[in-house]
Amino acid sequence: MSEVHTFAGGPLDRAGHRRTDADWIAAKLKDQSTRIVPLWKLQPLVTPRRDGIGWLSPADVDGYLMSGVPTIFIGEDDAGVAHFAIDVTSFDDANRSEPFTNVGKFMDLRAIALQLPMGDPSTLGTAKAILDWNARHQFCAVCGNATEMRECGYMRKCSNGECNAEHFPRTDPVVIMLPVRGDDCLIGRQPMFPANMYSALAGFIEPGENIEEAVRREVMEEAGITVSDVRYHSTQPWPSSLMIGCFADAETTEITVDGLELEEARWVSRTLLKDVMNGATDTGVLLPPPMAIGFQLIRAFTEMK
Ligand SMILES: [Zn+2]
Repeated sequence: MSEVHTFAGGPLDRAGHRRTDADWIAAKLKDQSTRIVPLWKLQPLVTPRRDGIGWLSPADVDGYLMSGVPTIFIGEDDAGVAHFAIDVTSFDDANRSEPFTNVGKFMDLRAIALQLPMGDPSTLGTAKAILDWNARHQFCAVCGNATEMRECGYMRKCSNGECNAEHFPRTDPVVIMLPVRGDDCLIGRQPMFPANMYSALAGFIEPGENIEEAVRREVMEEAGITVSDVRYHSTQPWPSSLMIGCFADAETTEITVDGLELEEARWVSRTLLKDVMNGATDTGVLLPPPMAIGFQLIRAFTEMK
């Protein structure tokens, strides 16, 4: 299957070979066709109608670039235009300052992702993830000395010449799965969910586990259900994790929730879920927004057979 979820399918070529080409990067940061998106407290600048990214030129943000704000290379488009992101968090009043207020507003990416054009959430998700990783990895995890940005944001190197450890951005793999038995599937509620909302079960893969083992363990831990075959469906990259969507064949039906990660789980029929998808409000079940892979797994289940 080739589902492309929100935060995937970005239009830019990441052009990793450019990251170490300091001359090329320096030239592009002076080229007025270059596009730069600022992020403030991890919120990207977007246009007022949320119809796109609030791109600026190097001249627009000259003062910020000169001040040495964290600057990362995101990629190149088909025309060879370079795209960067800068972190202006250290400027308290950036959200009230020109040139940003002339172009748009800093907004929470998750809240606006569905309103943006296809591809923009992916571009901004990359920018947010890499800037966040750099901000959180100022010190070496090996020796505690300061680290320095390298490769335009995609590596940090320890400044201690006797250590020299290199640190790279990471993403955390998470399994998200729908246990299935005949015409029914298992959905669950986390305590933080809005009333009546249910989704697929999910959990982090632990070191030493493969995807299938993580699915089986999480479904057993959270709902007390034994699953056998696990089938991969699709993945969704969030700014700090990779959601790996699967279906799993349930071998048992009696639910025992752990009460921590899940407060309730229930078997629901394909018919009921189809009704919910079609707008029924009397089923006692609400689903997550279409942006979430959990919704997309449930939708795929309703379309099986
Ligand atoms: Zn070190």
